[in-house]
Amino acid sequence: MPLKGVEQIYKHNSPRDILRSYFGYDSFLEHQEEIIRHLAAGKDALALMPTGGGKSICYQIPAMLQSGVGVVISPLIALMQDQVDALRQLNIRADFLNSSLSAQKTREVEKRMVAGQLDLLYVAPERLLTDRFIHLLHQTQVALFAIDEAHCVSQWGHDFRPEYLQLSILSQKFPEVPRIALTATADSVTRKEILKKLNLETAAQFISSFDRPNIYYRVEIKQNWKKQLLDFLNTEHLKDSGIVYCLTRKKVEKTAAWLSEKGYKVFPYHAGLDQKVRLAHQRRFLHEESVIIVATIAFGMGIDKPDVRFIAHLDLPKSLEAYYQETGRAGRDGHKADAWMIYSLADVIAVRTLLDRSEGDMQFKRIQHRKLEAFLGYCETTGCRRQVLLGYFGEELPRACENCDTCHGEIETWDGTIAAQKALSCVYRTGQRFGAEYLSNVLRGSDNERIGRFRHDKIPTFGVGADLSKKEWKSIFRQLIAAGLLFVDLESKGGFKLTDKSWAVLRGEKSVQFRKDPETKKAKRTPRLISKHENDFFDQTSTDLWEKLRALRLKLAKEQDIAPFIVFHDRTLRELVAYLPRSLEEMRDISGIGEHKLELYGDKFLDLILEHVRQNT
Ligand code: ADP
Ligand code: ZN
Repeated sequence: MPLKGVEQIYKHNSPRDILRSYFGYDSFLEHQEEIIRHLAAGKDALALMPTGGGKSICYQIPAMLQSGVGVVISPLIALMQDQVDALRQLNIRADFLNSSLSAQKTREVEKRMVAGQLDLLYVAPERLLTDRFIHLLHQTQVALFAIDEAHCVSQWGHDFRPEYLQLSILSQKFPEVPRIALTATADSVTRKEILKKLNLETAAQFISSFDRPNIYYRVEIKQNWKKQLLDFLNTEHLKDSGIVYCLTRKKVEKTAAWLSEKGYKVFPYHAGLDQKVRLAHQRRFLHEESVIIVATIAFGMGIDKPDVRFIAHLDLPKSLEAYYQETGRAGRDGHKADAWMIYSLADVIAVRTLLDRSEGDMQFKRIQHRKLEAFLGYCETTGCRRQVLLGYFGEELPRACENCDTCHGEIETWDGTIAAQKALSCVYRTGQRFGAEYLSNVLRGSDNERIGRFRHDKIPTFGVGADLSKKEWKSIFRQLIAAGLLFVDLESKGGFKLTDKSWAVLRGEKSVQFRKDPETKKAKRTPRLISKHENDFFDQTSTDLWEKLRALRLKLAKEQDIAPFIVFHDRTLRELVAYLPRSLEEMRDISGIGEHKLELYGDKFLDLILEHVRQNT
């Protein structure tokens, strides 16, 4: 493996040595080492890894091993500063180029690049594609191209960036430079699109498991969303950072204002806000502790914050892909995190309406509808949620996960075959043009003027469902829609219609399981096996030390104007509390403390720990 040139600063030449001495990690995560060796051998690769899977190291280490600069193409210019800060903290020579830099600063960086003084350079795709930059690249020794967020080439996806399509020219202009495309979007259609559009058809594919075992998935029925959200935050995430997703800008604003009244440190984020405001809010989320962002989906792509402890969805996301990406922003550090969602029948109808009114041809809409159906299937599943999620991405989880609400028995189910038959039959006999409200009344045999007018008090299903409450019937209709046993016909003002699948149930050939919706006023939340608070230690002394370490970290970060997690991740602090190292030598064994960080911060943290031990023994 060729080593760096004259001003070689990496004394080591094995990937593992670099992992240990620069990053302070003991071992590689799944596929990292293979990918690194593959690239270092000059070959192309596609890496599919879930968020938090450790994609960055896959191109950072090969760029350090070889002479020349690793050029990282990323659409996320707002994050480049943090990425570069983080690398510099490890004593790795990194820079970025994007529209936020002055002309003079740009020239400086370009000069360093051409002179071979950089290991990694982050650039926005539109910059990379300029003639000027391509010309400069031809004068530069390039170790590799890393195309991050590669799913941006996909026209079907929600992050489509037209400039990404032109990145295929890299293979023509620099055929000898290895390329790696990276993404956390798992579906096979997107994967094929990436390979084709980036001219990577012959690249080796490295596909990691998409399971995120530390995330607890939970879906509740929306009843009183404010109360539900507040309960969730107050009982489980009092001091945590997290993201609350809403469908519309208006709701984002409303929710953020209201949470802030309740005493939370919270900022709105959506595409309607001024770019400056958005950046400021994103920055506070990254640089401070216990910040909540309330956002539309405009927020989050590539957010590198490792200690996001919860993702709350107040509205339905568009698809399971979107949901998996959004929830994937929680718990990148591998510690427990929550993906919590509430939804209702009204939401299902709202999303459907939005879809039908959206621009796009029939095929596009059909695909989107199918995606929505898959999503509803996830919401209403009576089995393990993780099995449904992974199954959707083509991965089989052999056993139930024991880390989702259905596995924990939070969801009760019942055999709803007969109820489903009554409901479907009622839809049919009333002419397939009414919604849940009216149908429930007919089923319950209500004395209602409208029913009388349509003479629906004369049909056989009138009153056959008096044994269930109206709320229960509405829940049944919601679940029938989610299961594709009914569909909402927007042409006829949202009336429900039977589908091809309905008949098997009506004929008694297929049984149906329903879940029981929990009561709104639950006296207390079912206790979960997973401890609710991430940083709860068993004893007060440890908690005290943890708080002291966090304060020191925040102070050091502020002094340098960087995010606290760039100094040390929570995981590193937690290990410090658990192992109480007594010397710099012992500190070296802590995850996330490499040579340079040991030099920068070792003494300061060690003093604090030693003082703490003295006081407490
Ligand atoms: P991705 O881009 O795939 O979401 P990152 O590259 O940001 O993931 O890595 C996710 C987290 O895992 C980061 O905090 C990173 O420092 C950490 N990490 C990466 N590789 C390792 C490793 N081999 N051992 C321990 N932690 C790692
Ligand atoms: Zn499960």
